[in-house]
Amino acid sequence: MSPAELLALPKVELHCHLEGSVPASLALELARRNGLPAPGTDRGLYEFETLEEFLEDYVAVSGVLRTPDDFTEVAYASLAAGARDGLVYREVAFNPTNHPGVDVADAVEAIGEGIASARAEFGVDARILVAVNREHGADVALGLVRRVVELADPLVVGIGLDHNELVGPPEEFAEAFALAGSAGLGRTAHAGERGDADEVRRTLDVLGVTRIDHGYAVLRDPGLLRRSLDEGVHYATCWSTSQWHAGPAGSPIPPMLAAGLDVSVSSDDPPMLGTGIGAEFLAAGEACGWTLADARAVVLAAAHASFLPGTEKAALLERLTREA
Ligand SMILES: [Zn+2]
Repeated sequence: MSPAELLALPKVELHCHLEGSVPASLALELARRNGLPAPGTDRGLYEFETLEEFLEDYVAVSGVLRTPDDFTEVAYASLAAGARDGLVYREVAFNPTNHPGVDVADAVEAIGEGIASARAEFGVDARILVAVNREHGADVALGLVRRVVELADPLVVGIGLDHNELVGPPEEFAEAFALAGSAGLGRTAHAGERGDADEVRRTLDVLGVTRIDHGYAVLRDPGLLRRSLDEGVHYATCWSTSQWHAGPAGSPIPPMLAAGLDVSVSSDDPPMLGTGIGAEFLAAGEACGWTLADARAVVLAAAHASFLPGTEKAALLERLTREA
């Protein structure tokens, strides 16, 4: 399989953050336009070395997204970049509570406009995951999910849980996630990236998620591995950020795939990490020795684990088969 073939392969990604998809130049431009100081610190935007510094930049860039047009522009630009790498469908997460003063309904509508423009121009489609920032606590999470349920916008297909895993334990968000589940929303959560296998297990038990974002700790616990295989838990992994958790044997993703887990590969925060869905597939493909069929299986795993309603999921699967 050549790099060109892999780049051209139609792709699906389930783990990509809107606020992590703002190129540095666009972040500076949005700050200027909104009369705000340039985001970032003395070290330079996206020149982070630790996860804490990474989150610092992520929050700083979240702060420059103020108007509906900002959300539209970022959603459009990030999907246009994905489409150049063969992306056909993405579930994009955004953190409403990172944008005080911005109404969720307005933001969803604005992101929807960006998605519609990208769809019209490049054929790439997307849906929204409303992400709970775990550092903001249980009450804020519950208020947010109530608002999303009330909104009942078909563009929002699920909720997520992100930010610092070491701060908000899953138990705090049980009520919010139960409400989302009863409203028919899909549920995913970051776990087992910095946290241990027990955090992943509790996330499955308490939040009712069908997907785990990252989840690399599963490799360190045979019981959780067995359970994940039995229950078909989907792990939405990211090649670049998995390197932060690489042991002497390298990224945890190849052994997760080798263990037979249901795994997909996404780009997480492409411009922040200097990556894209194409580069993620190229790096994973090289490390895993993928054939085109192997890469296609990873894309199909993502499509099957998506939160699209049945008929739309069937249409996506049909498109992937047709375009492969
Ligand atoms: Zn993430």
